[in-house]
Amino acid sequence: MDKNLFSSSGIWVRGNLHAHTKNSDGLLSPEEVIDYYFSRGYDFLAITDHEKVTTVKSEKLILLPGSEISVGKCLLGDSYHILAINVDNNEALQKYKNESVQALLDFVNKEKSFTIVAHPYWSKLTHSDLLNIEGYIGIEVYNGGCDIEVAKGFSMVHWDNLLTQGKNVYGLATDDAHYYGDLDSARGWINVKVKERSAEEILSSIKKGNFYSSSGPIIEYLSYNENKVEIRTSPVERVDFVSEGGRGFSVSLDTYNKVKQAKDKVRILGKVEITHERENEIAYVELGNSKITIKTERGGIISVVLEGFSFKKYFRAEITDHNGKKAWSNPILF
Ligand SMILES: [Zn+2]
Ligand SMILES: [Zn+2]
Repeated sequence: MDKNLFSSSGIWVRGNLHAHTKNSDGLLSPEEVIDYYFSRGYDFLAITDHEKVTTVKSEKLILLPGSEISVGKCLLGDSYHILAINVDNNEALQKYKNESVQALLDFVNKEKSFTIVAHPYWSKLTHSDLLNIEGYIGIEVYNGGCDIEVAKGFSMVHWDNLLTQGKNVYGLATDDAHYYGDLDSARGWINVKVKERSAEEILSSIKKGNFYSSSGPIIEYLSYNENKVEIRTSPVERVDFVSEGGRGFSVSLDTYNKVKQAKDKVRILGKVEITHERENEIAYVELGNSKITIKTERGGIISVVLEGFSFKKYFRAEITDHNGKKAWSNPILF
């Protein structure tokens, strides 16, 4: 991720990189799937039917040709599901399906094409399985279909274990839509920063990690430097700063309200100061040598500034709203 992603010029475009049509096991035709995402304000879409590329044209959305390939075998016995994005060679994909996972990744990963490991939790992948292969740009940190069908939609632990091992991979939220009707669709997407609305620019920004993933809330701004981290968001219930091992920090409305009610009783805290500014309430909290500034608005956290915290190996931000919907920044490794 570009360190200045949230302050750089450009526009945000929203898209889903995992969707099925009647060409594999989805319920809608490719045209109906395009209409579905268009009607919900999406800018781009990758149709990723199983084991084949669905070729379709549209004026409504920017389409990235893709496929979901089942290949290889993980330690616990299942196959890997690999999203191959910006590929159109059906014949070659068929051939690589019977080779190793690495051979498929090497075939797809070209200048403007890339691979993503789909639903690690659902696939029973361990982090060793993910360390054993090279060259994919990321994993699905959230898969909407796996979430609502079998409660295995989240793969944050896989992601953090990879980052702990120094593997700089992105976290992507996707739908893996089969049924539509907002059931297993419009549940996970990426917001990509681009200079212009074109397939080429979207592909290149995704490859650079210049996006964040969401299933609801918005990350409006995020900056990280050694002494200071700042995030601004749509109103949320919780803001997590995730790093290696026991490093990291979490701010939730729950702890915020407890600190407010019991500021003299919470012994680990230094100064706690609450001020009000129009519709906002701002709390300044001292915790040892660190300072935390939390801004809330109408019962939701809208910004957090951390000063004097030390993170290790990597840093990423994750937010959760009142409905349990999340957004994830990409990591910064150091
Ligand atoms: Zn799959
Ligand atoms: Zn799928």
